[in-house]
Amino acid sequence: MSNVKHIQDSTQFAAQVLTQDGLYVVDFYADWCGPCKIMLPVYENLSIDVDLTTKATFIKINRDENIDLIEKFGFIIPTIPRFFTFRIQEGQLAILEDLGGTQSKTSLKNKILTHHEVSPNRLIQKTPNHKPRVAIIGSGPSGLTAGIYAARASLDVTIFTGFQPGGQLTTTTEIENFPGAWDKDTKEGMMGPDLMALIQQQAEHFGATTQISEIKSITIDSNHNHDIANKPVFNLTDGYGETHQFDSVIIASGATAKYIGLPGEEKWIGKGYHSCATCDGFFYRDKVIAVVGGGDSAMEESNFLTKFASKVYLIHRREEFRASKIMLDRARNNPKIEFVLNQQPIEFLTKDDGKKFAGVKMQNTKDQSISELELDGLFVAIGHIPNTGFAKDLLSMDEAGYLIPRSKQISELLLQKESVENINQEDFMKYRTMSQIPGIFIAGDVEDTVYRQAITAAGDGCRAAIDCEKWLESL
Ligand code: FAD
Ligand code: NAP
Repeated sequence: MSNVKHIQDSTQFAAQVLTQDGLYVVDFYADWCGPCKIMLPVYENLSIDVDLTTKATFIKINRDENIDLIEKFGFIIPTIPRFFTFRIQEGQLAILEDLGGTQSKTSLKNKILTHHEVSPNRLIQKTPNHKPRVAIIGSGPSGLTAGIYAARASLDVTIFTGFQPGGQLTTTTEIENFPGAWDKDTKEGMMGPDLMALIQQQAEHFGATTQISEIKSITIDSNHNHDIANKPVFNLTDGYGETHQFDSVIIASGATAKYIGLPGEEKWIGKGYHSCATCDGFFYRDKVIAVVGGGDSAMEESNFLTKFASKVYLIHRREEFRASKIMLDRARNNPKIEFVLNQQPIEFLTKDDGKKFAGVKMQNTKDQSISELELDGLFVAIGHIPNTGFAKDLLSMDEAGYLIPRSKQISELLLQKESVENINQEDFMKYRTMSQIPGIFIAGDVEDTVYRQAITAAGDGCRAAIDCEKWLESL
């Protein structure tokens, strides 16, 4: 059941809306739009909510079929779905408030209730939205934290969630090292997906809008005639082919840990098979585990894991290592680490009718012979892939594709005593998270090749949002 009226066109709008004074809520949608379909049941559910039914009339309008109506009444619809409240008073429409796009039911309901309480006399004056618009690419700890800070700074924030709403932490179970996300009675950390859902609600509470879509490209329109003078406009095109305009962009698109690609791999992630020693090593006190990889990460993680495990096998597919000599020597000199070379894991071993992880089957890369290694846990340290494809040809990246903030580049040039002439150093050093393009900021694992923790990513998101706010203010 729903109380949502479908307004087909301008004629119906004139007959059924303009003639009835009161507060309206409108959902602009399109038939082809996935997020619109996700939001429709939420919207329909709100239309029968007892707190709202007596206060507002709920309507929906197909955006693609009503461009004339949209232009005539001055709705600005950067993305769909888009929700607005407006009031009809004596046959006149006053656009009250842009409520944003995809968001939780609670967030939408609270906004409608807030607008209902505003005096109609005040509302009749148009309140165009002059807030600078900020796009945040990514909804992991860095993106959502940036969202909280930017929204609290009264910026108009849209968070594009990407293919993994909530980011990497949604692929794991208990998080024990995120300060505050810990139950003092049970002494347990929050579950990753719960923690991320909570941070998202916090960002939405302060006014950020989350949009379930992936950004495919960014282009810059320097000559755009825009309400903030002399500044570029960033055009972001999403996976639905829609282009959205923003005054500033925070890239927080993270990195994806590489896994080996063993059969049935997803099932064992977090349950015997891990990609983050700092995060999950603690669960292997006095256990026998293995680390796969031959780079610095594998050496570092193996050494770290010997703090907990009774024994660590280091499995590598060759005899030569990418790891630096110092890191390799440190692992070689650790009595708890045993090197297993020329071996490639090919299958999981299981016990209890396939219910529990028991180790790995390996193939010798020289003579192809097969062997088995019983383990309590297996960690992979075979590299990460930064999610930066959409910024290719636009921003500076290292060889692996990690983004590099301009301040880091300048510091490195200065360290090498190289000239940094022709660079406005002051600005870039002032906004430490800014990319080489003023207005685009970078946060979290997408630029972090060292720490890669939820809390460091969240800290970066905070820094990027503060830089972004200050930069917008300076214009
Ligand atoms: P991510 O969490 O990687 O989020 C990136 C976001 O960007 C995602 O929402 C993704 O959908 C989005 N995105 C990507 N491309 C696009 C695009 N084109 N358009 C729009 N959005 C896009 N850290 C800890 O501190 N404690 C732990 O216990 C812990 N456990 C972990 C367990 C596992 C299994 C893994 C893999 C990691 C773990 N980590 C842990 C590390 C932690 O998850 C990361 O350091 C942290 O999530 C990085 O945050 P981020 O916001 O920078 O990026
Ligand atoms: P890396 O140097 O690329 O090493 C990845 C390792 O994983 C390689 O040994 C590779 O084997 C192996 N590998 C890749 N795919 C595999 C697969 N499918 N199956 C089995 N093995 C596979 O990555 P990294 O160790 O994460 O390091 C990345 C960067 O971060 C490096 O620049 C590193 O120096 C830096 N880092 C620095 C520190 C530090 O200084 N403290 C710590 C960590 C990382 P092959 O060698 O056979 O290709």
